[in-house]
Amino acid sequence: MSALHRPGRTPAVPASPSPGASQEEIRRQNLGAVLRHVHVHGPTSRAELTTRLGLNRSTIGALAADLAAAGLVTEGAPVTTRRGRPSLVVSPRSNRVYAQALSIEPDRLRVARIGLGGRVLDLRDTPRPAGTSAVDAVVPLAALAHEMDRDVAADSIRVGVAVAVTDTTRDRDGRIRIGGPDETLRADIEAAFGDGRAGPTVLAGDLADIAALAEHVRGVAAGVDDLIYLHGSHGVSAGIIIEGRLVVGHGGRSGKVGHMVVNPGGLPCECGSRGCWQTEIGETALLRHAGRDAAPGAVQEVLRAAADGEPEAAAAVARVADWLGFGVANLVNVVNPDTVVFGGSLREIYLSGADVVRQRLDELALPASREHVQLLPAALGPDAALIGAAELAFAHLLADPLHIGSAA
Ligand SMILES: [Zn+2]
Repeated sequence: MSALHRPGRTPAVPASPSPGASQEEIRRQNLGAVLRHVHVHGPTSRAELTTRLGLNRSTIGALAADLAAAGLVTEGAPVTTRRGRPSLVVSPRSNRVYAQALSIEPDRLRVARIGLGGRVLDLRDTPRPAGTSAVDAVVPLAALAHEMDRDVAADSIRVGVAVAVTDTTRDRDGRIRIGGPDETLRADIEAAFGDGRAGPTVLAGDLADIAALAEHVRGVAAGVDDLIYLHGSHGVSAGIIIEGRLVVGHGGRSGKVGHMVVNPGGLPCECGSRGCWQTEIGETALLRHAGRDAAPGAVQEVLRAAADGEPEAAAAVARVADWLGFGVANLVNVVNPDTVVFGGSLREIYLSGADVVRQRLDELALPASREHVQLLPAALGPDAALIGAAELAFAHLLADPLHIGSAA
């Protein structure tokens, strides 16, 4: 999706702003920096903000007051600083300021209201009927959102709507297939959700990209600027963040690492190629290695049996972990990340076979690229895509807080 939003930073502008930056521009950036800090790190005293952002006390005081007047933060319950001065605590108004996050997944549709600060305020889901396209999901998603709206206070601010879309769908015969881009999705969502309230619509893109972003902002890779997030389900895809920015590619379809060919003599893949990585590490591969049929809960059952020491299941998990390490070594050589995060079914595979994955990495990746790499299980679980989508909607607010805050 070429419209994928690229989240950026909102640095504070302390002593020497870029030449030509107007006072208004500097103020806007500093408001964004204060709001971003409390959004990511939670309630923070004015004194702490002064230290963290490198701005003086009176500037922080004025910025916090402006954000409070716009209804985006509250100030209260002063804490005593090390110098013995009372300092007001600035908190995000999580209950009032929220993003509407949608996710279109192979088998279900979800809607969440996620408050400033990353709190999930409400989350509802409905099954996604087989054979339906992403556009078909808009009406049931809007119905869920409408139900939710009954519980939303009248003075709430919705900062935007963001949707994470899987690129796979389930056909009526039960088979999963790779879907194409749905050109009218944005327009349909805007028509269904654009009821005059503030906030743009963001097509957040692939679930793995968005989960990567969520882990980067507030998950296991918080503060890590170079990371690969690998998501395993039926297929395998990656969200790649380099220098703090999501890599999206020409058409927003980068990160299809599941179709990286690792075994040219291997099995045919649904993409038309042969020996793709996901034919060795996807959920279908795990079930095949374990001699099980695809059925609801079958993957979890294999993982449980492997943990209990059942030989066939344990061998299947070890085999998938081995192929996982093989591909991770290649990706580490290409991307040179600080961290590789394993999500979806690959989280459990990694937890079961961490030593196998690490051994493969050590054998196959360049020492300079692998020695510092941390391998970690994802922290945010199935809500990661919704949390990440909300971050994309919040990015607009953080770029210009008073524009959206006062527009409500
Ligand atoms: Zn493939």
